[in-house]
Amino acid sequence: METTVVIAGGGPAGAMLGLLLARAGIETVLLEKHADFFRDFRGDTIHPSTIQVLDELGLLDEFNAIPHREFEYFGLYTGEEFIPMADFRGLPGRHRKLAMVPQWDFLKLITTTADKYPNFQIMMETKAVGVIRENGAVRGLRAESHGRQTEIRAALTVAADGRQSDLRRTVGFEPTDIGAPMDVLWFRLPRHDGHPDDVFLRPGRGTALVSINRGDYWQMAYLIPKGGFDDLKARGLDHFRTSVTNLLPYLDTSTITFDDVQLLTVIVDRLPQWHLPGFLVIGDAAHAMSPIGGVGINLAIQDAIAAGNLVTGPLVRAQANRRPFLAPVPGSLLAKLRRRRWYPTAATQALQVQVQNRIIAKVLAGDADAGSIGAAARRIPMPVRRLLGRAIGLGFRPEHVRSSH
Ligand SMILES: Cc1cc2nc3c(=O)[nH]c(=O)nc-3n(C[C@H](O)[C@H](O)[C@H](O)COP(=O)(O)OP(=O)(O)OC[C@H]3O[C@@H](n4cnc5c(N)ncnc54)[C@H](O)[C@@H]3O)c2cc1C
Repeated sequence: METTVVIAGGGPAGAMLGLLLARAGIETVLLEKHADFFRDFRGDTIHPSTIQVLDELGLLDEFNAIPHREFEYFGLYTGEEFIPMADFRGLPGRHRKLAMVPQWDFLKLITTTADKYPNFQIMMETKAVGVIRENGAVRGLRAESHGRQTEIRAALTVAADGRQSDLRRTVGFEPTDIGAPMDVLWFRLPRHDGHPDDVFLRPGRGTALVSINRGDYWQMAYLIPKGGFDDLKARGLDHFRTSVTNLLPYLDTSTITFDDVQLLTVIVDRLPQWHLPGFLVIGDAAHAMSPIGGVGINLAIQDAIAAGNLVTGPLVRAQANRRPFLAPVPGSLLAKLRRRRWYPTAATQALQVQVQNRIIAKVLAGDADAGSIGAAARRIPMPVRRLLGRAIGLGFRPEHVRSSH
């Protein structure tokens, strides 16, 4: 099989890049190893910069039709007081809210829009297993579906296959680990009338909760010291349930078990190199983000926009002068993506590491609690909270769609 671009991974990065290339008329094949997009708590935060991108793509009405909740700030709850921290209300531009949208609905919107273009093809249950290398360049990939092997040759092969990327491993790329002091347990709890209406961090001593209002349920993130899940399980279910209700007494934990809990092993890393001739890595595969600020999806999409802006023109021209097979996209062009996206990635990770080290690590070690964190938070002036809102909501270098449809 031959195409112009083959993308491994139908997450936010791969799906968005697929759509951008499809609407520019570029022959694109998107591979997704799963049969569907339905995986709970893959990350549901759609930040103002992503909503801006949807606006630029003309998809705002379709997006707004997906049932979702919107928030104007992330807060801190001390048990006595709610303090808005990252405030989106002062953002420049039209979009000043963060939306919580099930990721499968978001991915469905992007991929079904891409699928309307005849030059786009999505292959579900198809796993990229290796790249085709010739004369120092990547010339496509090998994929497996239902036990059958396929070779897909392309001028550009994109690894958007997430933080455990198979493709980056096959070309020998190793991420640099930045580290995180915590892991996160995700679970749902029932939400009733009269409960608060916000998204907030509730620090305790030795643990902390992030509580996200999803309408009829709470999406909860319970922070534990890195590698500490077995220890928590050893202390028993009653200890776990009580430590949650000690922080937020209105919650009903009576039915939760460890089977209902999904462990997110937090990884913060980034690749020193994002490309080879004919090969590009984007999204979590290039840089796994800490869950602080819920920015992983956002950064993945921003990479896709920047990549689309970079390669669309040259690929449209190459397709127009079609030779028997297109030459690999030169490394000198692809190197520009990392140059553009390194700063926003590294700056966001640096901010996350500050929060991890100055707040989360101290809370988990029992050296800080809601009282001391709340006192420090109250001293942060409003303009700084707005800047924090900007760093989270828009990112450090917001990208805009430049390719046409
Ligand atoms: C439990 C959890 C909770 C999270 N919560 C949040 C949150 O609230 N907000 C937020 O912004 N981020 C969150 N994240 C992170 C966020 O999900 C990622 O940053 C974001 O999805 C990255 O997008 P991506 O497209 O780069 O990679 P992914 O979303 O990981 O997508 C990669 C895709 O590639 C597919 N794939 C993998 N290998 C192959 C292969 N060999 N061949 C073909 N397909 C392949 C995978 O099935 C997947 O669909 C969370 C992550 C986890 C694990």
